[in-house]
Amino acid sequence: MGEAHDTNGTSPVKEIETRLFINGEFVESSHGKTFDLYSPKTLEVVAKVYEASEQDTDRAVAAAKAAQPAWAALSVETRSGYFKKLAALVREHHDELAHLEALSMGKPVSTYFDAHAFAGTFDHYSEAGYTPQGISSLNTPGYINLTLRQPYGVVAAIIPWNVSLLFFAKKVAPALAVGNTVVLKSSEKAPLTSARVAHFVQEAGFPPGVINVITGFGQVSGSVLSHHMDVRALSFTGSTRTGRQIQEASAKSNLKAIFLELGGKSPAIVFEDADLEKAATATQFSVQSNSGQVCMANTRIYIQETVADKFIKMFKEKLEKVTMGDPTSHETDHGPQADKTQYENVLRYLEIGKQDGKLLMGGQSPSDHSGYFVSPTVFLDTPEDSRIMREEVFGPVVCINTFKTEEEVMAKANNTEYGLYASVFTKNIDRAMRFAKGLEAGTVGVNCTSPETGRDTPFGGFKGSGVGREGYHHCMNNFLETKTVPTVP
Ligand code: NAD
Repeated sequence: MGEAHDTNGTSPVKEIETRLFINGEFVESSHGKTFDLYSPKTLEVVAKVYEASEQDTDRAVAAAKAAQPAWAALSVETRSGYFKKLAALVREHHDELAHLEALSMGKPVSTYFDAHAFAGTFDHYSEAGYTPQGISSLNTPGYINLTLRQPYGVVAAIIPWNVSLLFFAKKVAPALAVGNTVVLKSSEKAPLTSARVAHFVQEAGFPPGVINVITGFGQVSGSVLSHHMDVRALSFTGSTRTGRQIQEASAKSNLKAIFLELGGKSPAIVFEDADLEKAATATQFSVQSNSGQVCMANTRIYIQETVADKFIKMFKEKLEKVTMGDPTSHETDHGPQADKTQYENVLRYLEIGKQDGKLLMGGQSPSDHSGYFVSPTVFLDTPEDSRIMREEVFGPVVCINTFKTEEEVMAKANNTEYGLYASVFTKNIDRAMRFAKGLEAGTVGVNCTSPETGRDTPFGGFKGSGVGREGYHHCMNNFLETKTVPTVP
């Protein structure tokens, strides 16, 4: 445990956990290596974090493997008890977790929902073990054909930094609920909340090895998990580039089952008959929340030419009201970008936007804020083939273009390698249904946008945005093998 350096007497964070949690114990990395985690606001070191070595990652997998048979053999009631305790502990420590995330990756405490999402997900899956799995058949003469659904064994979960605890829960809870054990690798950019939750895992009494939490980079620990012969299923959320590497690693090792939630370049299409106020509010929030670091953000807005001026004015006014500042303050709703790499990447895209499009607002790092801040930025009339229209920026940057016809905008919206989310705003139900069917995306919001996605609905991407689906009962199947048992009675 390290001391919390930049917190004052009123901070809910007193100490910061930076060790690995393997086989029920907190340990330093085997080679003793740490890396510095910087606050994106103060640019000071928040913590020195232990980085998992190959040996540590192997140990975590071995612990999970050893713990799995006994975990799978427990009654649903017993497993459910651990889930409920963990959910309660995380809920109880909401403020501390919010503050830790603000320190590490700059998410404003006023917008922090991750701990509640974590607790709600574990609460939900606490009952999931009761769901019957598998279908039997009497259709083959002379046989009773049984179908068994069995846990894989060890599941690896690799998560990003933008909503750490939501992804922790979305992967770990369903995998455990159906009898697997887990090694979770948190992101090097936001490792503190996952490490803190490991304390609650211990306090909730989970048997050693059932949940292991390690921190590290893609190289070494991420890559070791993706190549590991004892990891039979891997659930990943992160960039499309890393998703490809993970699939390749699986192909070169043991063909583990892979589930990928990847990047996006989501379009929002606003027709002249839409409720423009509602459309502007929803799209503005989608683009600005979490400082634009949201996979589903509607970063390409297509507005019908006839109402473009009106919509753009409304959109701009809403974006101008954003309060930028210290993420640990409750007054702030727009924090810095997560780290130097993110920040510099966004600044590079701003230059591309200025070259290719027309800058309406923002376009720089604000001079009155120290830290990795980027002003909410809008570009108009950017050519469809510009890199800023085609690549994921992962910052508070949106391109607004106009269109005339349905055919034209459908083609433009679908002209992307991504397919995570799309929105259409219109009061015409026939048109809404045409777009719901025609847009190539895992989710199509009708008169709504990304943050309004329900957790009980399937979530995932078409095309380069992913493979498989998450979302409550939809992803329990991800963590179960299917076995057929032809039986001659
Ligand atoms: P990233 O791909 O750089 O990293 C994600 C995780 O993968 C981290 O834990 C990282 O350490 C690990 N990693 C990196 N290289 C690896 C490798 N070779 N093998 C195994 N693991 C490796 O992504 P990021 O910057 O953390 O997150 C931002 C990206 O995540 C964006 O593209 C965003 O759209 C996407 N995202 C998608 C969703 C979704 O649900 N579809 C949700 C959130 C974020």
